[in-house]
Amino acid sequence: MTDARKFQSVPGVRDILPPESAFWNHVEQTAGDVFATYQFSEIRLPILEQTELFARSVGASTDIVGKEMYSFADRDESSISLRPEATASVVRAYIEHGMHTQPGDVKLYYMGPMFRRERPQKGRYRQFYQIGAEVLGQSDHPGIDADVIEMVLVFIERCGLVGHTLCINSIGCKDCRPKYVELLRAALTKVKDRLGPDSQRRIETNPLRVLDSKLEAEQTVIETLPRIADHLCDACREHFKMLQAMLFMRQIAYEVNWRLVRGLDYYMRTTFEITAPGLGSQNAVCGGGRYDGLVELLGGPPTKGIGFALGTDRLILALEEAGKGAAAPQLDAFIAWMGAAAYPMAVRIARALRDAGCSVELPHEEMKFKKSLSLAARLNARFAVILGDNEVASGVATVKRMADATQQSVAERELAKILRK
Ligand code: ATP
Ligand code: MG
Repeated sequence: MTDARKFQSVPGVRDILPPESAFWNHVEQTAGDVFATYQFSEIRLPILEQTELFARSVGASTDIVGKEMYSFADRDESSISLRPEATASVVRAYIEHGMHTQPGDVKLYYMGPMFRRERPQKGRYRQFYQIGAEVLGQSDHPGIDADVIEMVLVFIERCGLVGHTLCINSIGCKDCRPKYVELLRAALTKVKDRLGPDSQRRIETNPLRVLDSKLEAEQTVIETLPRIADHLCDACREHFKMLQAMLFMRQIAYEVNWRLVRGLDYYMRTTFEITAPGLGSQNAVCGGGRYDGLVELLGGPPTKGIGFALGTDRLILALEEAGKGAAAPQLDAFIAWMGAAAYPMAVRIARALRDAGCSVELPHEEMKFKKSLSLAARLNARFAVILGDNEVASGVATVKRMADATQQSVAERELAKILRK
């Protein structure tokens, strides 16, 4: 009897196994390729940041900072956190490295894990992954917003996603939003007893978040609340109108959703969200918006900003639901060798084929041909390269095409040519 403990992954945290991991690489590679055509460059950010960075930017009263963040005292007692999102880090890096002196807009993308202590369920994890991009610069032209939206749509469509919906909204600026929030708070206070405890609490802390409620019982009363579109200042109204013209120009279909507010304090004006079918209630694959005041708030020069974060886990789930997920990787050649003299030839051929870009499985324990050919079949190999005493003597391999069991003799130096096809 041993008392070896069996370990399991922490709740809400999961392994991404082959062949799915290859599909993840493909999706991330596609993102990088598409973003590069829009002249975005990758930034690699740390996973740890000072807790204060998120408290200031995302907002201390948000769910993310208030109850979902993994924060802990470092050995010197300073509080650090696992990042729950990455826009704050991008802005921190932008300021720290004086990137505002670079010519033109600074256009950055990132990908990697984020951490939030939420209730784990399908499409909601405690370690999840985001692919995001940000534009930082002097202009807040709505054409930038539209280009960013176009870029993320091109990316997800190139991955094969269909049936998704883009929703947009404007949540105003520091001039008009506070007035609207007060109006909303007053209206909410009047209907307080028709709201659940979460929404009741938010009347004080974050009234906009009530609009985001998915509680069935609250829906009719929310529909009666004042709408921000009727309370935008002239500049915000014009910006939102222009954004829609810019989307129209790009032939991008969208819906205006007046209840689309984001759970992060730094957003202003444009907000958007992309939802995908097949994900149940965790159907938001991408959220984004404008955050013109954030760089200044974190101690940098006046700067405009817009960006998005896409949930990679959810995008991949949606693609898998649509039958567009991972394909098992192809094995080009299995080297079936027998006899001590065949092993050096097997090693040499494996190397040559790999140099030519073929995937090769080379067994190291000697096996009878019957056994190695059955393993080759189970591994889905396209070809078996058979090497026995005869092949060693002649320097000519026997190549078996697994699909139809046809065999041919191929000289060692011709192998790569035959197998690559
Ligand atoms: P949701 O409303 O679904 O909780 P959110 O508003 O918290 O999303 P953001 O903070 O804007 O989401 O993050 C952007 C995207 O990251 C989301 O649209 C979603 O695809 C993904 N995402 C957020 N939280 C999680 C999570 N816990 N697990 C998996 N993906 C997530
Ligand atoms: Mg959330």
